[in-house]
Amino acid sequence: MVDAHTLLTVNEDRLVSDLEELGRFGRNEQGGVDRESFSQTDQEARRWLISRCQEAGLEVRTDSIGNMVISSPVLEAAAPDKAPVWSGSHIDAVPNGGIFDGPLGSLAAVECLRRLHETQTPLARPVQAVVFSDEEGSYASLLGSTALTHGFTTEQLSDLSSRYGQPLAEALPAAGGDLAGAAELKLAPGSVHASVELHIEQGPVLEETGTQIGVVTAIVTMGGGTVRFTGKADHAGTTPLDRRQDASLAAAQFILALPQKVRAISPDAVATTGIIRVEPSSANVVPESVEIVVDFRDPSREKAEQLKTAVLEAAQAAADEHSVRFTDGLKPLVDGAVMDSGIRQVIAEVAAGHLFSTMDIPSGAGHDSQNMAAIAPTGMIFVPSTGGHSHSPAEHTPWPDVIRGANTLLGTLTALAKE
Ligand SMILES: [Zn+2]
Repeated sequence: MVDAHTLLTVNEDRLVSDLEELGRFGRNEQGGVDRESFSQTDQEARRWLISRCQEAGLEVRTDSIGNMVISSPVLEAAAPDKAPVWSGSHIDAVPNGGIFDGPLGSLAAVECLRRLHETQTPLARPVQAVVFSDEEGSYASLLGSTALTHGFTTEQLSDLSSRYGQPLAEALPAAGGDLAGAAELKLAPGSVHASVELHIEQGPVLEETGTQIGVVTAIVTMGGGTVRFTGKADHAGTTPLDRRQDASLAAAQFILALPQKVRAISPDAVATTGIIRVEPSSANVVPESVEIVVDFRDPSREKAEQLKTAVLEAAQAAADEHSVRFTDGLKPLVDGAVMDSGIRQVIAEVAAGHLFSTMDIPSGAGHDSQNMAAIAPTGMIFVPSTGGHSHSPAEHTPWPDVIRGANTLLGTLTALAKE
């Protein structure tokens, strides 16, 4: 599978300047990027990307929910009716996000397609670049790829609104999409031959181990929701300690119990209690209720289920100990995905061909690839994130790492498109 064609390399200057240019759309005073899907800024960025593709002789089709599929007339004509190899990511950003999370995988895919197009590399099937809409989930997590892989009903889409309260039913048509069409996008299995996404790691492991390329093994299954403890509000001065039902004590015990329980389940598991809301939140009132937002993740679905059970048991034990009530507000697990073993092997072989160091690594973050894995063999390539930072202006990946990632992607796509 891996031959001389898989050592074709990207145009480094072109990719770097594309990343820098896209990073200017929505740049704010803190040096971060505000680029919510379907916003004015997002539409300007899309128009820029479309013109970059057209300059290279590529064609861009935007579907009803704003996913962009970019193709080469040369590659399409050479292998008509063959299911394409897809590669892509997203160009929307979290509020005050960085310039690499999403744009790297999107623009590297476009650069790979451009190279295959201009070199007229002989392939058995076309490669297409994809930009999924609203990966960061202002409206719904992984919105665009979910529409393609799992589908939405018009009613489900009508119920969605952005993190700022804007209904999708207004934002989507304003950005050129349409709600009814967005409910008809689900792809048939087999319509995509394989899918590969390049992404920044968003964690510290590759940098700390001095590894150039991460071969993603699995994307975590995510769980979470709220755990609420309800006791009794009382006067903070006149109620003796042993007469109280203090919800904050149960909350504290619960939070402290979690790390040990999580470690006992799996070395890859994590749990976070990122939001704590105390009611009535008054210095002279015994806390009546504490609501904690919990997030927990593991690459294995089975372990994630065990985590959920452990969270509920820890909460119940804490509630019992402090004579308060516990309410379970955890949501159903969001499935991750195991990456295709054949594609993992191709990624590792291509990277080795370039003499890049590699390691297997799970993804602790969610990605569109977890959706693509439901309809096609899917792989992901990680490159290092400086300091492990992401979703902030500090997000950074050195250019040599960007280029190594893009060249690994290009070789992988070439090998898969020769099948
Ligand atoms: Zn991303």
